[in-house]
Amino acid sequence: MIRSVVIVGGGTAGWMTASYLKEAFADRIDVTLVESAAVSRIGVGEATFSTIRHFFDYLGLDEADWLPKCAGGYKLGIRFENWDGDGGHFYHPFERLRMVDGFSLADWWLELGDRGRPMDRSVFLTTALSEAKRSPRMLDGTLFAAGLDGSLGRSTLDEQRAQFPYAYHFDADKVARYLADHATGRGVRHVIDSVEQVVQDQRGWISEVRTAEHGSLHGDLFIDCTGFRALLIDKTLGTRFESFEDVLPNNRAVALRVPRETESDMAPYTKATAMNAGWMWTIPLFRRDGNGYVYSDRFISPEDAERELRDAVAPGRDDLEANHIRMRIGRHTHSWVKNCVAIGLSSAFVEPLESTGIFFIQHAVEQLVKHFPDETFDERQTAAYNTRIGNAVDGVKEFLALHYRAARRDDTPYWKEAKVRAVPEGLAARMELAGSRLLDEETIYPHYHGFESYSWNAMSVGLGLRPRRPHPALKHIDPTRALAEFARIEAEAKAMVAALPSCHEYLASIND
Ligand SMILES: Cc1cc2nc3c(=O)[nH]c(=O)nc-3n(C[C@H](O)[C@H](O)[C@H](O)COP(=O)(O)OP(=O)(O)OC[C@H]3O[C@@H](n4cnc5c(N)ncnc54)[C@H](O)[C@@H]3O)c2cc1C
Repeated sequence: MIRSVVIVGGGTAGWMTASYLKEAFADRIDVTLVESAAVSRIGVGEATFSTIRHFFDYLGLDEADWLPKCAGGYKLGIRFENWDGDGGHFYHPFERLRMVDGFSLADWWLELGDRGRPMDRSVFLTTALSEAKRSPRMLDGTLFAAGLDGSLGRSTLDEQRAQFPYAYHFDADKVARYLADHATGRGVRHVIDSVEQVVQDQRGWISEVRTAEHGSLHGDLFIDCTGFRALLIDKTLGTRFESFEDVLPNNRAVALRVPRETESDMAPYTKATAMNAGWMWTIPLFRRDGNGYVYSDRFISPEDAERELRDAVAPGRDDLEANHIRMRIGRHTHSWVKNCVAIGLSSAFVEPLESTGIFFIQHAVEQLVKHFPDETFDERQTAAYNTRIGNAVDGVKEFLALHYRAARRDDTPYWKEAKVRAVPEGLAARMELAGSRLLDEETIYPHYHGFESYSWNAMSVGLGLRPRRPHPALKHIDPTRALAEFARIEAEAKAMVAALPSCHEYLASIND
């Protein structure tokens, strides 16, 4: 029987893993987390995915309590700016497509023409809330889509039925500290010390980690949450790392935390703005924005990237300190090897364009519980876990590759190269198909990776990759019901925008 788990690393991955395992197994398992005071957390990772709601609900944490403590805000989706090179924008919201007579509204939008509105603002309701910078909650806390509210309890991603309309933005350090308090309150042992040596037995399994001041920590199962260092899975076990750089070439980022001048201007979305050699994120937290430029150093130097970022988001604020980060893009072929499971950046990282790092952590820790070993460490369970984790990461890799390949920009060497770069096997065929008909659940990447067909369609059409002709069947179907549905969305959007407070107003009310 596995009785003790040692987690090395106290970033978002370490504390999410510790909290979740303690919630799942309570006192039946001892959980120790060791983190180094000398090695800081990565300090980014502040936009999430709508499925994060399952995680907080599973822990029994109430949004009204934790969100203000983590300087949090709402995220109704991602606003992509200038991916056409002409300053235009579109949204990738957390909202499924409505169906009319067996066809999605996106199909109907292609058939009926844009009638003055692009697809995202015709077929989705939440894009209107984003445009108007509205909170998804009324001042009394009611969600605009009341039917979707209420705690999900101890449910996992496998049980996700409805698409929840929002995710969160939060301060990465504050979330780690909040979860640390929560987890230690539940009995997780917290050791602040550096692991200096990882000891293996004669079979190569990890038997203990030796710290500088607290001696040895023994465990049955070790979780590597040491970030890009990957101290256990890589430096100790030498697990093969598969780079994605041929497909996703951005290998660096520079981040800047900027106090927000006009509080009332707080947006309920992440902004992803295409730049000359990459893209820039803007993540609105309660009193500041997180900004960063993700780029390839083959096309721009770190100094020039920092300058471009400062000019865009903080002109005249050279006092603000920039955080330069090297990113290792790819995944370990196996995240679970012997009695070591890597979770977080130590396991895999694509790039932050769709805010999937924390989603990968959530998925991994849930899958770890579902594949939890006994003392035999059944290899079939380990292999099944590795397959799921690998599939999820590969699916997101493919989805992100679509963003670059389908973008209409080709005005700089970086964007020109994006048009000829390798794409993962499967994506080329999917893109070919997307030029003929909208993708559905059968034709998107086939394994669970968090994204549904609506996401693939929002991105393809938003970027300019759309079927050459509408669906032929729609010529033979009376469009009255579809037109009524478009009108209903427009009316609902108008009513919501009028009724809901601004994003800042609502958050200010729960921050009091
Ligand atoms: C530029 C960038 C932007 C990102 N944006 C997003 C985003 O918007 N949304 C999202 O979901 N994800 C994002 N991510 C990913 C996200 O940041 C990570 O998934 C998340 O922060 C988890 O990091 P981590 O805990 O694995 O690593 P880290 O935060 O690096 O933590 C590593 C921990 O290991 C400890 N450690 C290291 N060595 C030792 C040792 N020898 N002994 C003891 N402890 C040790 C450190 O002290 C630290 O506590 C982004 C990542 C990058 C690089």
